[in-house]
Amino acid sequence: AAKRNGGNGYAVFEPHMGGDAAEQLELQNDLRHAIQRGQISLHYQPKIDAELGQIIGAEALLRWNHPTRGMVSPEVFIALAERFGIINALGNWVIQEACRQLAQWKQTGLNMRVAINLSVHQLRESGLAERIAQALEHQGVDASMLLCEITESVAMEDTQATQRTFEELRRIGVYLSIDDFGTGYSSLNYLRQLPAQQLKIDRSFIRDLETQGDARAVVDAVVRLAHALGLRVVAEGVETAGQRDILLAMHCDELQGYLYAKPMPAETLLAWAQGQKPDGAADFSDSVMGS
Ligand code: C2E
Ligand code: MG
Ligand code: MG
Ligand code: MG
Repeated sequence: AAKRNGGNGYAVFEPHMGGDAAEQLELQNDLRHAIQRGQISLHYQPKIDAELGQIIGAEALLRWNHPTRGMVSPEVFIALAERFGIINALGNWVIQEACRQLAQWKQTGLNMRVAINLSVHQLRESGLAERIAQALEHQGVDASMLLCEITESVAMEDTQATQRTFEELRRIGVYLSIDDFGTGYSSLNYLRQLPAQQLKIDRSFIRDLETQGDARAVVDAVVRLAHALGLRVVAEGVETAGQRDILLAMHCDELQGYLYAKPMPAETLLAWAQGQKPDGAADFSDSVMGS
């Protein structure tokens, strides 16, 4: 069921499509060993301060370079990892690696907040906040340098386990962001109580900003709502100057997307940040996958 290149640099592999039991098992096995075999890495995508036009952070995104399939989309292999019960191992690796990278960047003078994505399985498991606190301490990095992105549908899951984890994460001092906002269904009253500092508007709204009045109305309303609640707003998936201009006029706080840069290896990001043009031209945007 695997073919090269789905147009975004990932190998096409749909676990529900044609993947027979043997293939599933093989992929599961491959994934189990992927970390120790050095096939897993983090790429980083800049987040741009809308007002200053400068990088103020980066989102860490998992990459799996499979020896025969090539780059497998995280949407595919994270779903597999969740199903096979290895998401916590993968998630813990991300925590360690992101903290290590934060410490290294700090040494080179690149001081910016790094975001990691958390799976619902990690939130349900006890001890997450403690592990994150330990990883930060081990690297000598301040907790306020780490931001945890949690998708809206998960953040709104009002279970004791996830609520407790949110509180614990806040208590240790990491920042929280609600990812893919607008795709779940938030209770506004619940949103009000969430201990988050940031809200990321889902890419689907940004994509339609220039062409669809309703998308524009939603984004405008979300920015106002977020600001009224004291949250910073990030637009993800900004691809055109037109989208950027609309978002600037709406006073969106941070912009992230291919207009500025695609996710890239850590060393590339350092060079990008050091040589970044003030208007955020996407100098390194070709150096994405497989480089
Ligand atoms: P996400 O957290 O919402 O990340 C944003 C996704 O949009 C990334 O895809 C990014 O490469 C892509 N993107 C950014 N800017 C643009 C743009 O301008 N245009 C378009 N078309 N796409 C853009 P990616 O890296 O394939 O990751 C997909 C999803 O996989 C992430 O969505 C996140 O939910 C999940 N993921 C990635 N890394 C991790 C991780 O370490 N842990 C967990 N639990 N999930 C992860
Ligand atoms: Mg994210
Ligand atoms: Mg997102
Ligand atoms: Mg997403």
